[in-house]
Amino acid sequence: MSPNVYIIGAGMAGLSAAVRLAKSGSNVTVFEAAPHGGGRCRSFYDKSLDTIIDNGAHLMMSGNSDIMALLKLTGGTDEVYALERTRFDFLDVSNDQRWSVDLGAGRGKMALLAWIFDARRRPPNVSPWTLILDVLALKRSKGKTVADCLDIKAPHFRSFWEPLCVGVLNANANEAAAELLWAVFEETVLRGGYFARPLLTRRGLGAALVDPALKTLKDLGVDVQFGKRLQGLDFKDGRVACLNFTNGAEVLGAGDRVILAIPHFALQGVLDNFAVPKGAHAILNVHFRLDEDVEAGFMGLIGSPVQWVFTRGNIASVTMSVADDWVKKSATDIATALWPDVVKVLRLKNDQIPPYRVIKERRATFVQSPKALTLRADPQTKYENLFLAGDWTNTGLPATIESAVRSGRKAAEAVLG
Ligand SMILES: Cc1cc2nc3c(=O)[nH]c(=O)nc-3n(C[C@H](O)[C@H](O)[C@H](O)COP(=O)(O)OP(=O)(O)OC[C@H]3O[C@@H](n4cnc5c(N)ncnc54)[C@H](O)[C@@H]3O)c2cc1C
Repeated sequence: MSPNVYIIGAGMAGLSAAVRLAKSGSNVTVFEAAPHGGGRCRSFYDKSLDTIIDNGAHLMMSGNSDIMALLKLTGGTDEVYALERTRFDFLDVSNDQRWSVDLGAGRGKMALLAWIFDARRRPPNVSPWTLILDVLALKRSKGKTVADCLDIKAPHFRSFWEPLCVGVLNANANEAAAELLWAVFEETVLRGGYFARPLLTRRGLGAALVDPALKTLKDLGVDVQFGKRLQGLDFKDGRVACLNFTNGAEVLGAGDRVILAIPHFALQGVLDNFAVPKGAHAILNVHFRLDEDVEAGFMGLIGSPVQWVFTRGNIASVTMSVADDWVKKSATDIATALWPDVVKVLRLKNDQIPPYRVIKERRATFVQSPKALTLRADPQTKYENLFLAGDWTNTGLPATIESAVRSGRKAAEAVLG
C-alpha cells in the first residue's frame, strides 16, 4: 500500500487538494466536520424560498485560472458561464444615477488602453491619466493600505474603487491591503476585459464546484467522511503521529501525510502556538424571492449599505461586506432595511417585501490588512508530514475561491514534491 494523505476540511481548498492528489494516484481520505462539503462556498435547499440558494452570492472571474483548471478536472465546466464582456453596472441609490464600467472583451494591453481612453466605458469623473496613476500606485503598494495608495476623497473613489475594494477584500480602504487588489487586477483586468468577465453559475455553487468535486472523488475511490471534527494532533519526532477527532482517532503510518485545509480561526484550535492572521469580517446576504424570473446578472450599489445585488431566476441576493455591525441585527430588521434598494435596482412595481432568507457569515474572511499578510502560511510547515491549505494561506490573492483552490493545488504539489 502506498502512504495515505489525510485531508482535513472539504471546503474548496480541501476539495482542490483532494482532487489533484487522487488524480495523481495517491490514497486520499477527507475528513470534514460539517455534514456537507463546500464550507463557506455552498448551496442548500431553503424551505421558505422553496429553492436552492448559495450561502452567499459569489463572484468569480474568467481569469481565475485555478478555478477553471479545477472545473476541467471535475467536469464542472458546463455549470458555469462567463458573461460576454466585462461590464460592471452601478446605481447610486441616493440620486438614482446609473452608469457602467465597460472593459469589453478584448485581450492584452491595447484592449486595456482602449478602455482607459474611452470616457463612455471607464468610471465617471476620472481622467485616463488619473486611472493609470491609481493602478501604478496599487502596483507599488507592498505594506500599504488602499487608502495609503488612492485618493479616497476623489469622486471616482466612491464610484469605482470603493465598491471594488470592499467587495473584493471584505475590508474598508483604510484597512485593506492594497497589494491584494493589485494581485486581482494583474490576473484579470490588466490582461484585458476577456479575463475579467464575471463567471456565473447556472444552478449555484454546489452544482458547479462542490458536487462535481465530490463525485470525482467518489469515482476515484476516495473516502470522504462527514461529521469528523479534528480536535488536535499528536506529534512524534517532528511528524504528525495521530489525528484526534471528537469521535475517534486516526493513527498515522510511516509516510502518511496530512493537509489541514481549515479556516485560520479553526487552525488555532488544533495547532497550538501557530501564528495566523487575526480576526475576521462578516458578510451578510439576503435572498429575496421575486414574483417572476429576472435576467441573471449583478449590479454595484453606491450610497447603500449593500455593495452588490445579484439575480438568478426569481432570486435577488444582496451582499453586504464588512457587515460586522449589521449581523447583530434581527433578520426582519435587515431584510426590511435592504429591500427598498432591491426595488430600486430592479425597478420593481410591487414594493411589498417578498419571502426572504438572511444568511449571516460572521467569519467570512480574515481581516486582510497589510500586517495580516505577513502571517499567511506557506503550504509546508516545520513538521515533515504536515501541510496547510485554505484561502488565508500565502497565495498572494485575497481570501476568495480562487485563493482556496490555488492553495489546495499548492499543498498537493508540496505533498507530491
Ligand atoms: C458570504 C460570503 C461571500 C463570499 N463571496 C465571495 C466571492 O464573491 N468571490 C470569491 O471568490 N470568494 C468569496 N467568498 C470567499 C470564499 O467563499 C472563501 O474564500 C472560500 O470558500 C474558502 O474556502 P476554504 O476551503 O479555504 O475554507 P472553508 O470554505 O471555510 O472550508 C474549510 C472546511 O473545513 C471544515 N472544518 C473547519 N474546522 C474543522 C475541523 N476542526 N475538523 C474538520 N473540518 C473542519 C469546515 O467545516 C469547512 O468545510 C465569500 C465568502 C462568504 C462567506
